[in-house]
Amino acid sequence: MEHASASEGDTLASPIGRASGGDEPDGARWQRLLAEAIRDPQELWRVLDLPPAALPAARSSAKLFPLLIPRGFAALMQVGNLNDPLLRQVVPLAEESQAHPGFVRDPLRESGAGHAVGLLQKYQGRALLVTTGACAVHCRYCFRRHFPYADLPRGRRWWSDAMAALAADPTVSELILSGGDPLTLPDSQLAALADDASAIPHLRRLRIHSRLPVVLPERVDRAFLSWLGASRLRPVVVIHANHANEISDDVTAACRRMLEAGAVVLNQSVLLAGINDRVDALAALSEALFRAGVLPYYLHALDRVEGAGHFQIEEGTAAGLVREMAARLPGYLVPKLVREVPGAASKVPIPW
Ligand SMILES: *Cc1c(COP(=O)(O)O)cnc(C)c1O
Ligand code: SF4
Repeated sequence: MEHASASEGDTLASPIGRASGGDEPDGARWQRLLAEAIRDPQELWRVLDLPPAALPAARSSAKLFPLLIPRGFAALMQVGNLNDPLLRQVVPLAEESQAHPGFVRDPLRESGAGHAVGLLQKYQGRALLVTTGACAVHCRYCFRRHFPYADLPRGRRWWSDAMAALAADPTVSELILSGGDPLTLPDSQLAALADDASAIPHLRRLRIHSRLPVVLPERVDRAFLSWLGASRLRPVVVIHANHANEISDDVTAACRRMLEAGAVVLNQSVLLAGINDRVDALAALSEALFRAGVLPYYLHALDRVEGAGHFQIEEGTAAGLVREMAARLPGYLVPKLVREVPGAASKVPIPW
């Protein structure tokens, strides 16, 4: 497609584009940065100079769901501040072991929703492919913290089964790559997947749900953009940021590169106590996204997953926050406040 070839040249000469065109080939740089991510609580404590008293609990919580933070993301956090809004999303805390009524291991009951293995179809017209269990960051509130990824069959057979199921269902017009995080996969695999998908005539859109453009913007390199922009399918990238501090200059540049490659770029957030549960924080996030050319899409009420109860916001409070946002922002900067309800035909709006 034309927009793909147009994006190969000078539009990619951003700081990140230049860096990835240096010594390291495309792909090698982000994979190295991912390999170098912080995985050890003690190291996180050292890098950010955090209070030692909270370290033992971090260690035990990290045994249930490992700590994982790219160094570039950690660099956006305030040193010495355990309440930093970016840190709180990813730091294991003692609160995770508190039980909360109604918080369960599989809140979305996804174990029952797959019609081909790895392919979830909950909503009409859209099929979601769980491509991998891996992420570039581990968000402590994530509903997938107990997802049985190990049960996913791997390799060619899994892939061709999913493609066969898609090809056999003409009602599906959009394929959503999800996970885990699909952008942890190498571009060779993703390009092959996009290729197979584009051969299915009734598919029109290819959507990618990923946190990598935010936590590892180096991932948005030429190799990624070239297959993304070249597909017959219209690309939609839904990034995931919860706080304005996440939208660094590098993230802004990464979003602009995706737009230049022809993608529609949207953001989804989760409403999280102590992180973005004030109207100022939410409005600042919408403004920062807009500067990056990204529109807010969903603001999710927390899925009630075991270990995340301390992030919960009452629905009435959530509705009030969105009402206040709507009173001070243009309508296109107000995300849809939704909750996932098992068995519902769509995300369920929370009225405000
Ligand atoms: C959220 C979700 C989608 C996408 O829903 P949209 O409202 O189109 O963003 C599709 N499939 C599954 C299984 C989902 O959880
Ligand atoms: S699936 Fe998304 S929200 Fe969950 S841990 Fe991975 S990046 Fe975070």
